[in-house]
Amino acid sequence: MSTCEHVAELPADTPSPRTPEGCEDCLAEGSRWVHLRLCLTCGHVGCCDSSPRRHATAHFEATGHPIVRSFEQGEDWRWCFVDEQLV
Ligand SMILES: [Zn+2]
Ligand SMILES: [Zn+2]
Ligand SMILES: [Zn+2]
Repeated sequence: MSTCEHVAELPADTPSPRTPEGCEDCLAEGSRWVHLRLCLTCGHVGCCDSSPRRHATAHFEATGHPIVRSFEQGEDWRWCFVDEQLV
């Protein structure tokens, strides 16, 4: 059982990705990403911790938005940054 309380605070509908073509911040900087994560609070698309710039984690640290899901095809897991667990 998940102990994450943040799932219940997410919007009822998954927000549309703001930049479906890739990491919003990498696109702005011209940097590259490895894998993508979608913020389930606001629709920010950021890159994973295997990417050089780690924008998904940076987005959490800047905004406090707790949960991302994988934005990779065929993956539907969610990760809570606060609890540091799959939710
Ligand atoms: Zn949580
Ligand atoms: Zn990035
Ligand atoms: Zn967000």
